[in-house]
Amino acid sequence: MKGSHGDVPRGRMAGKNAIITGAAGGIGLETTILFLREGASVLMTDISEPAVAKAMSKAKEIVPNMTGQVATMKCDVSKESDVQSIVDRLDEWGGVDVMFNNAGIMHGEDDDAVSTPEKIWDLTHNINVKGVWFGSKHAVLSLRKHKKSRGSIINTASVVALVGSATPQLAYTASKGAVLAMTRELAIVHAREGFRFNALCPAPLNTPLLQDWLGDDQAKRHRREVHFPTGRFGEAIEQAQAVLFLASDESSFVNGTDFVVDGGMTKAYVTPE
Ligand code: NAD
Repeated sequence: MKGSHGDVPRGRMAGKNAIITGAAGGIGLETTILFLREGASVLMTDISEPAVAKAMSKAKEIVPNMTGQVATMKCDVSKESDVQSIVDRLDEWGGVDVMFNNAGIMHGEDDDAVSTPEKIWDLTHNINVKGVWFGSKHAVLSLRKHKKSRGSIINTASVVALVGSATPQLAYTASKGAVLAMTRELAIVHAREGFRFNALCPAPLNTPLLQDWLGDDQAKRHRREVHFPTGRFGEAIEQAQAVLFLASDESSFVNGTDFVVDGGMTKAYVTPE
């Protein structure tokens, strides 16, 4: 699966304008590539300008014959004015159709109830929760402004919103639980406007967010891998394929879900040896 996008242009996202936050990272870049391959126009946004510029070059290299447009913009999702700017930028493309609120952090100092510093709690919640709220809010405003009868907003949660972990990152876990609850309510509130909201729940993945933190520590790695029935972490592209489905009209009757992409991890008791 890793890195296999093919180079044939298709059209599952033809005519759609998408914003992706955290687009320089693992899931964000893979999703950009799939969206472009399927005919969308994508505004790639990230807190790091150089990283998102580099990511766009990679996307252009992988999808040389795209039919939509691609552009980048700096955006710190914890700042409402930044989020408003990226959404406003899409006015010139005809407004937002798809908003992928993907940016998120898992801080190294995030720990259990006793040891997590309050500033890490606040930082995590400002990005992971408030950022998703701002993205959802401005997507709704854009959809209304452009009189769209359908829209898809995908908010990234995590499996830790569903199952407890004995290797705690309490601020992160609480933030992802908030994303699930918020997304569910948004889905119900906006259903009759045609705006769908779904939460993606990825399992631990082979992306820098987790892998940089695990490093070469084999014991730490094994402690997690053993819980996968498949015996491996997920790949970012496997999340991107799910996001593509949720973003496209193929999922027109999928709303308010906790969309779990975890290789069966949250359904397992004892895994194969
Ligand atoms: P990643 O670290 O590869 O990418 C995250 C991107 O977000 C980075 O490019 C980073 O620069 C950007 N970012 C950080 N703070 C930001 C901010 N304030 N505003 C805008 N952008 C910011 O991570 P990833 O694995 O691609 O994760 C994407 C999402 O998936 C996150 O919400 C993460 O919590 C979630 N997730 C990841 C895993 C995993 O194991 N990787 C598992 C479950 C959920």
